[in-house]
Amino acid sequence: MDTAEIRRRFLNHFAQRGHTVVPSASLVAQDPTLLLVNAGMVPFKPYFLGDLAPPWPRATSVQKVVRTVDIENVGRTARHASFFQMCGNFSFGDYFKAEAIPFAFELLVDGYGFKPDDLWATVYLDDDEAERIWLDLLPAERIQRRDKEDNYWSMGVPGPCGPCSEIYFDRGAAYGREGGPIADEDRYLEVWNLVFMQFERGEGAGYDYPILRELPARNIDTGMGLERMATVLQGVDNVYEIDISRPVLDAAGRLTGRRYGADPAADVRLRVIADHSRTAAMLIADGVVPSNEGRGYVLRRLLRRAVRDARLLGAREPVMGELFGVIGEAMGPIYPELVDNADTITGVAVAEETSFADTLRTGTTIFDTAVRQVRATGASTLGGDEAFKLHDTYGFPIDLTLEMAAEAGLTVDEAGFRRLMERQRQTAKADRAARRIGNLDLSAFRPILASSGPTQFTGYEELSRESGVVGLVDFAGIAGIG
Ligand code: ATP
Ligand code: MG
Ligand code: MG
Ligand code: MG
Repeated sequence: MDTAEIRRRFLNHFAQRGHTVVPSASLVAQDPTLLLVNAGMVPFKPYFLGDLAPPWPRATSVQKVVRTVDIENVGRTARHASFFQMCGNFSFGDYFKAEAIPFAFELLVDGYGFKPDDLWATVYLDDDEAERIWLDLLPAERIQRRDKEDNYWSMGVPGPCGPCSEIYFDRGAAYGREGGPIADEDRYLEVWNLVFMQFERGEGAGYDYPILRELPARNIDTGMGLERMATVLQGVDNVYEIDISRPVLDAAGRLTGRRYGADPAADVRLRVIADHSRTAAMLIADGVVPSNEGRGYVLRRLLRRAVRDARLLGAREPVMGELFGVIGEAMGPIYPELVDNADTITGVAVAEETSFADTLRTGTTIFDTAVRQVRATGASTLGGDEAFKLHDTYGFPIDLTLEMAAEAGLTVDEAGFRRLMERQRQTAKADRAARRIGNLDLSAFRPILASSGPTQFTGYEELSRESGVVGLVDFAGIAGIG
């Protein structure tokens, strides 16, 4: 079953059950807490929070999604792409668990032809209600309870959240250990997550955040990974090999002179090239341009990783022009924005590739010299000053230095690097302040300091999050979820 048919059946299934079909929103999040849309529910967040009245009680969509938290998994696991499409059905204070679970089960079994024997479900630790509903559909031994990390969902930032129930397909013994999703998530492939949106969470790292209140209504938010469903229904090994992805993978092979499937290490890089270039194309189509902060930095990093991997595999010529052509053909029928602006989109990627090629050429020479010097002294850590020089003088991003150092078997004195970055920032700030303040007499502020004591300035962290500007450090966490 091709991806287009899986999508069609999903939307039909829910349209027949009273859901309004809503088109995908742009990847560029309207929501100020996120850089990029990381789940199907993001455009509907105000309805869950009760900030806006929902125009419909039920909706269904196939939303474009980018997850930077999954970037490190790309190419390595069978199931993580940095861009994917999330099929969802939503209830805004309308139906709840008792309908949502059978709705999903019916589509899987009647719509897609799954055998109930191949399905597993998980519920949150204390969710007896969801378990009872599942017990009508699956035997008790194929229902597992999991903790917050897997079965309590939020956008990764403050906002609506709630316990969830995930559905897994057992790919069989060839893919890993027995024992259900708890034992092995590459064998038991998570295809769908049903979230029971009932609460609002506050700030907190990881899974450590306060629950602020109960939401005004009990809602449903589900996400079925279109690419994962296609992986199962097309009987391929991973999300990069499905109908809409395979041509890009093959193009990456042609451009680098490699045959996909011949060498496991090269295959990882081919999957990274195919994945990252496609995500880049989707981002550019939504108006993102490469830059050193925020979304532009996500895009830049994806393009640069793809270019570098292509070179490492042996590409001698630029690759983006051809890759983007293939991506346009594979994705164009669903996403006309890729086709309408094809030349502009490709132009952005090609320009970035060209400028990065220059950076890479100079930087790599400097990097190799530094590595030789470290090794000559018998050490295994590249100094923070070297990393800083690479960054400051040669435009070599720190994540690239980290990645290349790891490949060379070295670590990097990251703390040292960050100290130098901070010192540079302070110097620049002082310079700016000196220029702006001129001869102003600062003694006027002394009494304030004396009466109220020093204060901690937190504007950098707080404002940068709010304005969507993201530093190198928290880059990976911004689009994060569990
Ligand atoms: P996993 O545990 O495998 O990382 P998740 O629990 O983080 O997935 P959810 O946040 O529940 O995923 O997202 C809903 C659905 O979206 C998942 O059930 C899956 O089908 C799909 N999905 C999630 N992450 C990815 C990804 N990186 N690439 C492709 N599909 C994904
Ligand atoms: Mg999961
Ligand atoms: Mg999940
Ligand atoms: Mg995940």
